[in-house]
Amino acid sequence: MDCREILEGLSEYIDNELADKTCREIEEHLKDCYNCQVVVNTLRQTVILYREVPDDEIPGDVSMRLHKIIKLTGGND
Ligand SMILES: [Zn+2]
Repeated sequence: MDCREILEGLSEYIDNELADKTCREIEEHLKDCYNCQVVVNTLRQTVILYREVPDDEIPGDVSMRLHKIIKLTGGND
């Protein structure tokens, strides 16, 4: 997969619409690609901002998406 495919797939990944195999391909790509890591780090910053908001103010599906981002980035949760 090239970077464009990764970035296009990222939103689907967050929406839990990709097969496990494709998810692993994205994760493998991220290990070796600085540019895509930057994108993921930006998403991580968004996650940190959301963590400042009480849970009951976050709609359920947004919270689920953020958990997927956390898994993707390998962050501590
Ligand atoms: Zn890339």
